[in-house]
Amino acid sequence: MERVGSCSVCGKNAAVNTPCVDKEGNLYCYECSRKQNKLLQGIDQYKDDNGRYITVPDLVYGECSVFVCENEVSAYLGGGTESFYLTPAEQKLPLEEIIGILRSYVDKGWHRCSSCGKELRTETEIAGRPLFAGICCEECWKKHLELLAEERRKGYICSMCGRPYSNCCC
Ligand SMILES: [Zn+2]
Ligand SMILES: [Zn+2]
Ligand SMILES: [Zn+2]
Repeated sequence: MERVGSCSVCGKNAAVNTPCVDKEGNLYCYECSRKQNKLLQGIDQYKDDNGRYITVPDLVYGECSVFVCENEVSAYLGGGTESFYLTPAEQKLPLEEIIGILRSYVDKGWHRCSSCGKELRTETEIAGRPLFAGICCEECWKKHLELLAEERRKGYICSMCGRPYSNCCC
C-alpha cells in the first residue's frame, strides 16, 4: 500500500502518528497539524487501493484534538499534552462539537481537571500535572500525592527508575 506522502507545510514524511488533511485536501504531518488554525481531519498513514486518503475519526483544530479509540472519545489541549475531561453527555456529542468546547476553553484560557472535570479558570488553580497529560485541581492533586506515598509505603516502586508506579513511564 502507498504511504500518504510529504507534509504540505514542512515537506517531511507525513506517515507518522496521525496525519491530517484540510478541506482542500492539503496534507499535514502530525506536528504541523497542531499549528494550523483550522479544522483538520485525521487520516490513516496509508492510502486506499485507489490512492485516496482513508479518514479516521480524529479531528484537530490548532492545539485542540479529539480522537476515538475503541468507542472511547478522548480530548486534548496543548497539542496532546493536556488531557481534557469529557462528561458522559459530552462523550456522545459529534466530535466537531467537542472541538468547539475545547476551543472555547482555549479562548478563555480555562482548563479542566483531568480527574474530576472541575473547571480551572486561572493558572493558580492548577495544582499539579501528573504523568500522561494529566492536570489536577487541588483536591485531585492531593489524592495523587497520597497515592504515590502509599505506593512507596507498599513498595510499589518501579525497579527501573525507582519511582512509584503511578509516577513512572518506563
Ligand atoms: Zn509538517
Ligand atoms: Zn479534580
Ligand atoms: Zn519506572
